[in-house]
Amino acid sequence: MPARTRAGESVNTRLLFTPLSAIVAAALLSAACGTSQTPQQAGPPSARVLPSILLVTLDTTRADAIGPEAAGIATPAFNAVAARGRRFRQAYATAPETLPSHASMMTGLYPAGHAVHENGRTVSSGQPLLAEQLRKAGYRTAAFVSSFILARRFGLARGFDRYDDDLPAGREERVAAATTDAALALLGGQPSTQPLFLWVHYFDPHAPYTPPEPYRTTYSRNPYLGEVASMDAQFGRLVQSFERLAKGPVAVVVVGDHGEGLGDHGELLHGNLVYQSTMHVPLVLVGPGVPADTVDTPVSARRVYHTILDWAGVDATGSLRGVVSEIVLGEAMKPFLEYGWQPQTMAVEGRQKSILAGRMEIYDVVADPRESRDLASTATQSPQLQVAIRDYPVPSAESAKPPDTLSEDARRSLASLGYVSATAAPIVRKGAPRPADMTRMFDLLEKASGLFVNGQYARVIPLLEKILAEDSHNLDACLRLAIAHSSLGHDGRAEEIFRKAGELAPRSPDVRLYLALHYARSRDWARAEPLLEQIVAATPDRLPALEALAVIRERQGRIAEAVGLRQQIYAMRKPSGDELAQLGQLAMGTEQTALAIDAFEKARAGQGSLFAHDLELGVLYLAARRYEDARSALDRVTASHPEFPMALFKRAQVSVLLNEPDRAARIDRARRYADQTTRALIARERLFQGAR
Ligand SMILES: [Zn+2]
Repeated sequence: MPARTRAGESVNTRLLFTPLSAIVAAALLSAACGTSQTPQQAGPPSARVLPSILLVTLDTTRADAIGPEAAGIATPAFNAVAARGRRFRQAYATAPETLPSHASMMTGLYPAGHAVHENGRTVSSGQPLLAEQLRKAGYRTAAFVSSFILARRFGLARGFDRYDDDLPAGREERVAAATTDAALALLGGQPSTQPLFLWVHYFDPHAPYTPPEPYRTTYSRNPYLGEVASMDAQFGRLVQSFERLAKGPVAVVVVGDHGEGLGDHGELLHGNLVYQSTMHVPLVLVGPGVPADTVDTPVSARRVYHTILDWAGVDATGSLRGVVSEIVLGEAMKPFLEYGWQPQTMAVEGRQKSILAGRMEIYDVVADPRESRDLASTATQSPQLQVAIRDYPVPSAESAKPPDTLSEDARRSLASLGYVSATAAPIVRKGAPRPADMTRMFDLLEKASGLFVNGQYARVIPLLEKILAEDSHNLDACLRLAIAHSSLGHDGRAEEIFRKAGELAPRSPDVRLYLALHYARSRDWARAEPLLEQIVAATPDRLPALEALAVIRERQGRIAEAVGLRQQIYAMRKPSGDELAQLGQLAMGTEQTALAIDAFEKARAGQGSLFAHDLELGVLYLAARRYEDARSALDRVTASHPEFPMALFKRAQVSVLLNEPDRAARIDRARRYADQTTRALIARERLFQGAR
């Protein structure tokens, strides 16, 4: 059982492709609308000196909760930056969840393009990322994130020289002040002539809303706004230091990753709907070639990627420094992927926003920003918009690998829209409800999710049963119910419900994964092993599967494979000191000396005086002919160590090899304290013969 089973972790997704007509249509669309032209006057960054770039992402920040037009809140730092730059009044997240939205900013693609539709998934290792490109362009790169949702394991760390996802022990988030301190420590450190790309992510406005003083008091009637105001103050500190300490010109992007429902349309939080409350986000650019103005043309937050590449002199295509006029798309697929409800997409053209989820809704978001008057019966959509929203590829919960039959041209056309294309229609079950009609379930789903994620299995079971009573096709609830029973040792009941989950989603890799973990938990290794092998082969980035398979390989004595799996795991998440020490021992057992030394050294650095493997480390250094290091390590082994005689024997060897004056005394001491094992070794040791 993985330590964390996040809301998004129960259905794997792969793109299926939509029919060929969609490809043609998409090609037309990109030809008709263009995507962007960067006008000549914007040009390359001035004097070809690359600016240092600060990207600040504001989690859960509604467009109407920050900036000069926000009501009931003062955000002076954001306002000051906005006054110097370009503020987009119609910017949209690509999805109302943290990881998919950030993945769009780091890839320039809609979720349909990067395939991360929910939190808890992993950005594919083959997907080029912004930081990688900036590093190639000569940038130093650093990221400071504030939530577990963006931890290294989810795939966005690639390309960052430093990716700081250090959260306070036992917490899943850190406050903006702490994240800012960490980022400022980097800025205050070693000066460099290289330009810097710094990404800072603040998480504070995410529920629960508990702002620090004085914001708690000032905003006691609206603690959500208190969180935003408090974050704004930290943002101000950050920008000020960045502009002061960065060498040369600077550019700043500040953008929300999605908003918060706060009760609009029956949604308190975010993730289930695509109304303005959660999709409309703040976005401001300041930097070379950017005038101080406001822009009312709708833009997608994915363009942050293109804009930053433009500043870095890599490519100006799609940059928001120029004029971008396009249909802006968005999606909220969690209810579809997790609960089997209607897939949800949105498209904004000018002031008209369309939402497609079972049926079409149309709103004028300028005249009616609360989306209270559905104009679907009277308004007309442009043909381009109709195509864009209908053909936005819906992912498939059935995870078949998409056939690779697209022409290069079609692929390019679709890529210009920000998504890879599809060749098969998604499977939407008959009678699937519209998410907007299911708001009565949101609270129950949220409560169940909270209890489940915190491992309160006995308490979550009645809630999950209630959800299934109302919504019997809810795969997420079904799978969680099975896992809850499994965790409580109700093996028979668990297997019965896993069977039901398998009927709901016959090819779901998640059902297979959690069933495999169930077998592993109940020590049914014979049934766990083949399932885990399948899962790891198909999706090598599923951490819980890797962890369970590593345990099985160790039990089977297939140590070299276990070591390989552990290395894969620790590339995705930070290992504990104990885990590193254990890896060191495993690697030692397979004579991978360099790897073992590395693991033990890291364990020692983390554990300090609690580190208990100096003997192993000494032996490894000796094997690597690093005699001085071996001496230091062996000298740290205390007499209370159960294998102290071995330490004395090894220390005597080192002493001879280093030609120390007291080598004879050390050999005598090793003899005197010898146990059965070392007595034989000492007797045979050639180094000791004649070492007087
Ligand atoms: Zn978020």
